[in-house]
Amino acid sequence: ALKADIERIVQAGEWQRDDLVRVLGTQDAEALETLRAAAEATLLDKVGAGVSLRGLIEFSNVCISDCLYCGIRKHNRKVERYTLTDDEIVASARWCAEMGYGSVVLQSGERRDAQFIDRLAANVRAIKQATRSARQPDGVGITLCVGEQSRDDYQRLFDAGAHRYLLRMETSSPELFALIHPAQQRFETRLQCLKTLREVGFQVGTGVMIGIPGQTLTQLADDLLFFRSLDIDMLGMGPYIPHGAAAMPASLPVAPVAERLDLAFKMIALARLTLGDVNIAATTALQALDPVGRERGLRFGANVIMPQVTPLAVRKQYTLYDGKPCLEDSAGQCATCLEGRIASVNRFIRYHHWGDSVHFARR
Ligand code: SAM
Repeated sequence: ALKADIERIVQAGEWQRDDLVRVLGTQDAEALETLRAAAEATLLDKVGAGVSLRGLIEFSNVCISDCLYCGIRKHNRKVERYTLTDDEIVASARWCAEMGYGSVVLQSGERRDAQFIDRLAANVRAIKQATRSARQPDGVGITLCVGEQSRDDYQRLFDAGAHRYLLRMETSSPELFALIHPAQQRFETRLQCLKTLREVGFQVGTGVMIGIPGQTLTQLADDLLFFRSLDIDMLGMGPYIPHGAAAMPASLPVAPVAERLDLAFKMIALARLTLGDVNIAATTALQALDPVGRERGLRFGANVIMPQVTPLAVRKQYTLYDGKPCLEDSAGQCATCLEGRIASVNRFIRYHHWGDSVHFARR
C-alpha cells in the first residue's frame, strides 16, 4: 500500500508531514525502491545527471565552539590543533582548479576574531586570482563553511568573492538542538545567520545530522519541511557518527549503523522530492559508514560530492567523528577513485564548472 501511496504523492507533488514520517519509518523494500527511483527521476529531470565537485579544504581545526557531538570541539584537549598557511590553502585550491574541480569549500572550526576573518577574506581573494583560467575566467567557485559570524563579516567574505555558504542547523528542533549544544550556542542565532547569509546574497546551504541520539522520525520530517520553508539552495546531510572524545549525553543510545544509513538515504530522497532543484551533497559521513555510501547517495538523488583535498599531514587532525575515510589517500588518488565511482552509478562529473544550485538561479 505504501508503494502505491508514494506513487500517488509523487504524482501530486504534495508531501504532508504524516507521509514523510511514514516513509522514514518503513522497511518495505518495494516502497523504498519506488522512493529511490522517484527521487532519481526528479533529479535527472530538474538538475541532470552531472555531478559537481567541491574540493574540501579543512584549513583549520581551531574552534571556539563546543558542540557536544564534534571531535574538534573546544574542550577536546586530545586534538592537536593546526591551521594551514595561506600558501598551503591557495595551493590546495589551485590543485583543485588544475584537476578541473570547479569549486572548493573552505571549512574550519569556528572563530570570530578579526584576524581570522581578515585572513580568510584575503585567502578568498588570493584563490580567485590564482585559479583564473581560460575555462574558468572567474576562478573556482568558493563555498565557505566557517560557522556563525556577524552580518558585517559575512558581507566582507561575500565581497571578497565567496558566493556560497554552508551552515547546518544540525536539527530543526530547538529542543534537540539544546540537548546537543552548550547553552551559549543558540538555535535562534544560527537560524538568524541563515537568514542573514541569504540577505547578503550567498547561495545558502544548510543540513542536519541524521540519527542523532534522541532524534525522532517526526523531527526528521520537520527538518524536511523546515528546509522548504527556508527556501534553501543547497543541502548537506549525513548520518550522525559518534566520536570517542565527544560529550554527548550517555543516556541516549545510538541507533545501529544500518539504521542511520538507511534513514540518511531516505532523507536524501525525500529532500530531492520535496525541494526539487536544490543541490544535495552525498557527504563524506555516508562514506564513513559505507564504502559505497556516496555512490548510493547519488542514486537517491544527490548531485554534489566533496572530495578531500586537505593536505595529508593534517587530515587526521580534522576528525569530526570516528572512521573518517580517505585518511591515507592523497588528493590525486581521491581524484582517480572518484571518476570510477561516479561512472558506476551512470553519472558523470561536470568538470570546470561552479555547479551552482539551479534553485538559486530560479529564485
Ligand atoms: N564550524 C563550522 C560549523 O559549525 O558550521 C564548520 C565545521 S563543522 C565541524 C561541520 C559539520 O560537521 C557540522 O555542521 C556537523 O554537522 C558535522 N559533524 C560534526 N560532528 C559530527 C559527528 N559526530 N557526526 C556527524 N557529523 C558531524
